[in-house]
This record gives sequence, C-alpha cells and structure tokens, in this order.
Amino acid sequence: MTIEPSQRVETVPPSGIRRFFELAEEMDEIISLGVGEPDFSAPWAAREAAITSLELGKTSYTANRGRRELRELIAEDADRRYDLTYDPDEEVLVTTGASEGLDLALRAVIDPGDTVAVVQPSYVSYVPGVIFAGGEPLPVPTTTETDFKLTTEALYDAGADEADALVLCYPNNPTGATMTGSELEPIAEFAREHDLVVLSDEIYSELTYEHDHTSIATLPGMRERTIVFNGFSKAYAMTGLRLGYALGPPEAIAAMNRIHQYTMLSAPTTAQYAAIEALESCDDAVGEMRRQYDRRRRLVLSRFEEMGIECFPASGAFYAFPESPWDDSEAFAEALLEDQHVAVVPGTAFGEGGEGHLRVSYATGMSDLKEALDRIETFIS
Ligand code: PMP
Repeated sequence: MTIEPSQRVETVPPSGIRRFFELAEEMDEIISLGVGEPDFSAPWAAREAAITSLELGKTSYTANRGRRELRELIAEDADRRYDLTYDPDEEVLVTTGASEGLDLALRAVIDPGDTVAVVQPSYVSYVPGVIFAGGEPLPVPTTTETDFKLTTEALYDAGADEADALVLCYPNNPTGATMTGSELEPIAEFAREHDLVVLSDEIYSELTYEHDHTSIATLPGMRERTIVFNGFSKAYAMTGLRLGYALGPPEAIAAMNRIHQYTMLSAPTTAQYAAIEALESCDDAVGEMRRQYDRRRRLVLSRFEEMGIECFPASGAFYAFPESPWDDSEAFAEALLEDQHVAVVPGTAFGEGGEGHLRVSYATGMSDLKEALDRIETFIS
C-alpha cells in the first residue's frame, strides 16, 4: 500500500520558493538575498548561558508554559518596550518559535469553516496554518499605493468585515512595511466594530528604523481580542534555537496551552536558558544588529533608486520589496539566479499583491550585499 496524505495536506501546495532554492543549491558562488533569517550568530552571552545550562545538566522538560523566570522577563520586556502588560502566569506562553504560537492560536480559536482574513503579501505560513486549523483563508491584498500598509478600505474590499479573525504582521515580511500607532487605529476600530480576533505577528518588532514599534494590542479595546506573537529568532539572531512566545488574554493562552501541553509539552529547555540571558543582558547586541541592518537598508534602497528600480521605502524587518524589472517576477528571479548567481525571492511566493515584486533580504554581510547589488545592476543593464 502507499500512505496517502490527508485531504487537508493535499490542499496546501508545497512552498513556492522550494524549487527555487533547489536550483540555487546546485550553483557555485551564489550570493543569497533570499533568506529570511539573520546572518549574525546569537549574542555570545546567550550562547554561553545555553552551554552553561547543559554543563549543569539542565536537560529536563520545563513547565508547559515555560520557565517562570523567563515568563516574568518576557512580561517585563513587553511592558518596557511596547507598553504591553501581561501576567506571566496566565497571559504568557513560551512556544517553539513564534511559528508554534501562531499554529496554536489558529487551532485554539478557529472553528471549522471560520474565515480568517490574512493580510497579503504575507509570510508563507499563515494561509497553510489557517487551512491546517480547518479555517477558510481570506486574502486581504495590500499594495504599493498604501506602501503595503493595511487600510480599512482593503479590509472592506476583501470582505473581511464578515471574517472571524485577522492575521497581520507589522513590521512585515516580505515587504518591510511598518505601521505607526495612528495608522493602526482605524484597523483596531474595524476589528472592534466587526468583532474580529486579531492575531498579530510582531516577530520583527525590534527591527524598525523610522519609528518605534506599536502593538495593536495596546490600542483601546484591543487587548481582549488580540494575541501577540513574538520571539527570539529575529532580534536576537536565534532562529535555530526555536524559541518564541505568545501574549494574550488568559482564556486564549489557556486554550493554546491545552494543545501545547499535549503536542509540544514544553519549548526547548536549552533555548529557554539562552532567552533568559538574552533578555537580561543582550540589549546592546540587539541595538548593534539593528544599526547594521539599517545601514544595509539605506544602501539597498539608494542602489535601487540609482538603478531606476522602483522600491517603496521599507522601514522595518530586514527586507526590501522592489518592483521586479520584468512583470513576471518568477522569470526574473530565475534568470538573475542563472545569469548572475544572485538569489532573491519572487513576490508570488507571498500571495496576493506579491506578483511584480521581489523580496530582497539584507540579512547578508555588507560586502556580499554590495557585490550582489552590482550583479543585479549588471544584469538589468
Ligand atoms: N513570522 C514571520 C513574519 C517570519 O518572517 C518568521 C520567520 N521567517 C516567523 C514568523 C517564524 O519565526 P520563528 O523562528 O520564531 O518560528
């Protein structure tokens, strides 16, 4: 016999960028501006704390919700940085990356057939996550006209007023767009008026370059309807340690923990020790990485301008989202890869509104970045 995948799995196509990366793997001297993770290593103090925990034999499970000391530090940090006040015992859940948090939240609050509006272009996991949870994804496209910020017009046009939940991500992957508090206010009003649960992926909250991050959960009436996702992957360059957290009202966190305690038991223990140290002593390292990303961002934006490639002024995360010189972004990305050995990701990988754009990650060292930009210039001229 052959084991047939379930219908649910069959409905989710494989990631659109997989074939692309397979192509890249076969080539030499590739410079990849395709990756969605920091080129830095985690700050040394965090790595050392992980090593020490192993030396001390701290290799057991932790509490389902995560070590209390870590939950306390997460709550203090969220309060200090983003004005989010959460009870470490009831409103914080330590997860295996922000990814697990998102998956848990979708499964914990979505009933079969519920509609989940997903702001697009978006991170590739949201739509599959909604489908795995039994919900119906409803794309809400954003465009360059609004600098890829979400507007109530886009929400109404997509029919999101009828949705049950809304997934949004600012600072955004793949566009690099951010939204200020006042820009989020009408979105919050929309969510209140149409009674939407908001799942807010704020994994790039530490990586903003023009204004500080505002969480939608801090806006009036939003705390009780919002679950915030964050983690250590981006700001602390800890992608491989797989550690994130969710913040939300007690009933939502309890529902998520109901799944988490059976499926994951607890997030990785070693990573929790690294995260405690990261929160206690690594602010300076985060600031330094942010400064370097910002220098690279400015370079990328100015080089695209010189080349005559339209690129809206990305102000967060570590991505620029220029217009593709060819209408067909996949064909352009493939030709660029074959001709110049530079990998960028075609916008089509990120859903509606993505076509005609390229995601260019600047989580790459300055000299490679300069070389890649030179090669792009050679290619288009
Ligand atoms: N959300 C977004 C928007 C991301 O870009 C990523 C990583 N590429 C994640 C979530 C996953 O984060 P984690 O490593 O914490 O699971």
